[in-house]
Amino acid sequence: MSSRDFICDPQSREDFRKFAKAIRRRYGYEKKLYFPIEKLFDQVSVDFDFDYELVDDIEFKSNEFAITVLNENKIYFKASLYEKAMNGDGFGRMTLAHELEHILSYKLFGIQLHRKIYPNDKAYKDPEWHAKCFGGELLMDYELTNELSVEEIVDKCGVTVDAARYRVYKY
Ligand SMILES: [Zn+2]
Repeated sequence: MSSRDFICDPQSREDFRKFAKAIRRRYGYEKKLYFPIEKLFDQVSVDFDFDYELVDDIEFKSNEFAITVLNENKIYFKASLYEKAMNGDGFGRMTLAHELEHILSYKLFGIQLHRKIYPNDKAYKDPEWHAKCFGGELLMDYELTNELSVEEIVDKCGVTVDAARYRVYKY
């Protein structure tokens, strides 16, 4: 799959919505509320040609769960976080989706991971915002979740209460 299959250089929430929908479509989950990223992650890494590795928890700070190293073409996951994700944990699943955005943006669009700090930088230029935005759109399809409550989204999409609240109240 090449970058031509996606919009180039996504910047806005609408762009990331299209990007997430393209990924959902590729795996046949366009109409499904639950996007099983934990089950697909092996396949996704093969399809998009990147590696990932599980690392002992002690190698990570307590509030860090994953890191994408672009020049290694690799995502490192804290082992306990990855295991939770494999068991359907909302935070773990969102972390997988978040890191996926970092590596796909780089591979497909050549976007760098680290933000250049300028005082007037807008959120849309921040790679962390990109990853959050994509993760939300991938796990909570906009159209499918439009009429749902926070509780229903948590239950049906497999996300945290915080993520579902953000979906319902912020966009
Ligand atoms: Zn990130």
